[in-house]
Amino acid sequence: MQVSNLGYPRMGRNRELKKLLEEYWQGKISESSLITGAQEIERQNWEKQVQAGVEWIPVGDFSFYDQMLDTAVMFGLIPDRFKIEDENLTDLKTYFAVARGNDHAPANAMKKWFDTNYHYIVPEWDKEPKLLKNYPLEAYKRAKKALNIDGKPVIIGPFTFVKLSKKVADFKKAMESLVPIYAQIFKDMENEGVKWVQVDEPALVLDISSEEMNEVKNVYEKITKGISLSIMLQTYFGSVSYYNDVISLPVSGIGLDFVQGLEDNLSYLEQYGFPKDKYLAAGVINGRNVWQTDLRKCLELIKKIESYVASDRMWIQPSCSLLHLPVTTADETHLPEVLKRTLKFADERLMELNILGRAVKDAAQVEDELKESDETLKAYREMTGQTDEKVRKRIAELKEEDFKREVPFVERKRIQSEKLKLPLLPATTIGSFPQTPDVRRMRADFKKGKITQDEYRKFIRDKIAECIKLQEDIGLDVLVHGEFERNDMVEYFGEKLKGFVVTKNGWVQSYGSRCVKPPILYGDVWRDEPMTIEEITHAQSLTQKPVKGMLTGPVTIINWSFVRDDIGRDEVAYQIGLALRDEIQELEEKGIDIIQVDDPALREGLPLKSKDRDNYLNWAVRAFKLATSGVKPETQIHTHMCYGEFKDIIQAIDDMDADVISIEASRAGGDVIDHFAKQKYSRDIGLGVYDIHSPRIPKMEEMEAVIRKALKYFDKSLLWVNPDCGLKTRKPGEVDAALRKMVEMALKLRQELS
Ligand code: GLN
Ligand code: ZN
Repeated sequence: MQVSNLGYPRMGRNRELKKLLEEYWQGKISESSLITGAQEIERQNWEKQVQAGVEWIPVGDFSFYDQMLDTAVMFGLIPDRFKIEDENLTDLKTYFAVARGNDHAPANAMKKWFDTNYHYIVPEWDKEPKLLKNYPLEAYKRAKKALNIDGKPVIIGPFTFVKLSKKVADFKKAMESLVPIYAQIFKDMENEGVKWVQVDEPALVLDISSEEMNEVKNVYEKITKGISLSIMLQTYFGSVSYYNDVISLPVSGIGLDFVQGLEDNLSYLEQYGFPKDKYLAAGVINGRNVWQTDLRKCLELIKKIESYVASDRMWIQPSCSLLHLPVTTADETHLPEVLKRTLKFADERLMELNILGRAVKDAAQVEDELKESDETLKAYREMTGQTDEKVRKRIAELKEEDFKREVPFVERKRIQSEKLKLPLLPATTIGSFPQTPDVRRMRADFKKGKITQDEYRKFIRDKIAECIKLQEDIGLDVLVHGEFERNDMVEYFGEKLKGFVVTKNGWVQSYGSRCVKPPILYGDVWRDEPMTIEEITHAQSLTQKPVKGMLTGPVTIINWSFVRDDIGRDEVAYQIGLALRDEIQELEEKGIDIIQVDDPALREGLPLKSKDRDNYLNWAVRAFKLATSGVKPETQIHTHMCYGEFKDIIQAIDDMDADVISIEASRAGGDVIDHFAKQKYSRDIGLGVYDIHSPRIPKMEEMEAVIRKALKYFDKSLLWVNPDCGLKTRKPGEVDAALRKMVEMALKLRQELS
């Protein structure tokens, strides 16, 4: 049995790649310095894997931006709108133009990679693909030269590539057009001495049609013809949808996920066996979460899987690429000892594999290491076992009415409009205002202890006052405090709530050079101090207009954290729901009449397989209701969502029973309006009238068009006017200009309609 890996975090231990990229984009370093710097990170990544004893080291998984983008550029799928000369097709300028836009055109779209918080660049299929480069092979050669290792090149497979692309007119034709390209890639690899290539096909875990599966068969038969190179067809993020078809594909090995897809994949193995002439690469440790593996249990699993596989034809590996984990826990010296030992980031995961690899050969030899891991597990369980009894008791005693508001929406609407007396088409924003350099600097200074708590507090209070004044001046109807005290909408609550720890260096790539630092939710969650009261009440004291209380919802907190896995996610969500409920109650008592609970990640957490969706949506909605339903009928609950296609979850959104939803609507060309209208959504709705992701100042007519379109379907009394997300990443000048235009538009339509 051999130890393999599927991919390693790209950013470097101290986010070196981020720094290099941003310096390059700012014109501070040359292209060749960027390349040299990046290749040094790549080399260190390989070296670490060599040291960890990984026998099949992935090469070509490293990327300057994103692996889907790499593949698109390799295949020459660079949209014409960027106006790039043929001879420059694969240089880095072109590459970054597709990712970030250039003078001629905006970037390709970005989408969440399956159900992760990683975003890929969506390839646009506006022409016939042609092979321009073989990046994984180049990486193979680099690894060979630098460290004399026989790496395993990684490439996105044809099915996943086409499935995730845009503007594919004819699926079959697109697949066919890739046949000569992949055949050539494999041939070139074979000639260079590559032994195994990892072909990533995570799309095989989606609910796909039998026609699609047939086409996969057809294409794999063609691309493997006359090739003696071994192909590891790699799936992850769940069990495969057509097990028998997948294991019969003409490849040398199949990679299956025995973490997220454990139950199904194992039962397929038991029911249908595994071909004796193939290798099985078993993903047995979690590549997406940070908790220590129960090594003894894992060994049993490995033995069980092994019994279905011909001898010496099994690999063990993480369930997916380690891209979704931070690099190492070594810098997290501030954490409680037990936690530090329990947490496993990429490097520590590889150590687990190393132990498992040796244990399979000779369990006695690693008994000490296994014992140590037993002890850590036990200590961790003891720690999480000692949680606040109150939390557990409150959860156990929840009743149906805790999930329900006292009176139905229609009646609340009447009560709230009498109380709030808002005009038609009330104008508001989503919450954050620009996080200008002074805000970041003060926060950093405060964290480093360079300024006192009082100084920081005063700074934030002044910022809030400025922000309120600005909003009054612009003429918005419902104000916000601006979120200056928040670094990130999830990390902020992770810092305030019990049951979380925040890491120092636990960065995970989100897209391009952007990284997030997910908090670690390790124990029972509760609120032992107010989280937002001071800032919100301060803001409210400065104006006669209503200021929205601003919180992040349970599902988003869960989706953007690393969450304990010793209890169900539903229970964790209810614990967060209760903590938010307490905060909301206090906001209400302190005179806040409108409270917004953002759940932008609700859509992203939707399970990949439709059979798992009802259960998820059920607890997700209940957790939101638990948080928000304790308020009086006259208190208005808002929610906000962005990133994603909402058409599959509109019923769930309705079930959340919020009074008002604000939603991203401008980027998808107003499709969202149709989806909500079709499903007869009949609560208040704020359709984002302009895209905040771009610095450009929206035109009046564009914003007006969104509202006019919405007026065709929705009663005017239901509509709000707002940007489509928070303004945190924009410059103050842009925000000022855009919001003034937005309010002007609202006033104009208001006059016309009343
Ligand atoms: N209230 C948050 C903000 O305005 C919402 C952010 C989000 O939806 N991602 O920044
Ligand atoms: Zn948003």
